Amino acid sequence: MHILDFIRCPVCGERLHPAEGSILCPNGHTYDIARQGYVNFLPPGKASNPRSGDDRGMLEARRRFLSKGYYDRFDDTVSDLVCRRDAEGTVLMDLGCGDGYHTVRTVREIFGHTGRGVMALGFDASKNGAVMACRLAEDAGLHTRGLFTGPDAEGPEAHFLPANIFRLPVAGQCADAVISMFAPIPWDEVRRILKPGGELIVVSAGREHLIEMRQVIYEKVEIGDFRPEAPSGFGCTGTKADRYTISVGKAEDLEDLLKMTPHYYRATGGRKEELRSRGSMDLTVDVNYTVFGLDV
Ligand SMILES: [Zn+2]
Repeated sequence: MHILDFIRCPVCGERLHPAEGSILCPNGHTYDIARQGYVNFLPPGKASNPRSGDDRGMLEARRRFLSKGYYDRFDDTVSDLVCRRDAEGTVLMDLGCGDGYHTVRTVREIFGHTGRGVMALGFDASKNGAVMACRLAEDAGLHTRGLFTGPDAEGPEAHFLPANIFRLPVAGQCADAVISMFAPIPWDEVRRILKPGGELIVVSAGREHLIEMRQVIYEKVEIGDFRPEAPSGFGCTGTKADRYTISVGKAEDLEDLLKMTPHYYRATGGRKEELRSRGSMDLTVDVNYTVFGLDV
């Protein structure tokens, strides 16, 4: 497996070839390889947008919270679902991967289970997220510089590519598994990039997810189920629900968690203060895993 077999020019869809410190397509579209190892496929002038998760403070809050392990079960479950397939090697695409915490853990889990090649491509609209993700992958012993190392790199790989997930710089039918964790789902792109027999794994919030936090933040809590509804052409091939309690022991952790959620933008200052004043809380984690395959 080599990353250049999978990525394509986001402008014209052609193959990309390495050049001095960059990669380019036959039509002359050039993309720089950053010092950290990522290639930025975002359209030029796409400014940093806090709502797209690019804000460094938000990403750091997310990383602090996740690195305490509260959501590690997500990766255990996702990797189990990916490993149900009996494949030679796995090409995984994580759409909306943020700081790459879950991507890196999932790759390590899959490699630990199967001992076979696994390559993850993590996409997000955030360049800062890619910087953090590359560093984490490197610290975790994953190959993250495939563009430099050539096709013979041994072991698990993870590459992080800032890009518009609704226009992925990826060849058709190349992904064994696509992961969407608490992120918008670009269904048409998923349909295009999945291999026949490949699967989309969606992780979404269940009815009671962080209910105790929402009860502090909102006057009236809406109990909604966020199960994804697939358009025609997809069929659900499996579901799993998981619910457990986490004890968040510090006000700083509650603050970090809040910053990871859309509730941060919706909550009033007074309500956020109320949450901080709790200091610690037991919170319900309630998530749904939904697996989709392509209809044949
Ligand atoms: Zn091009």
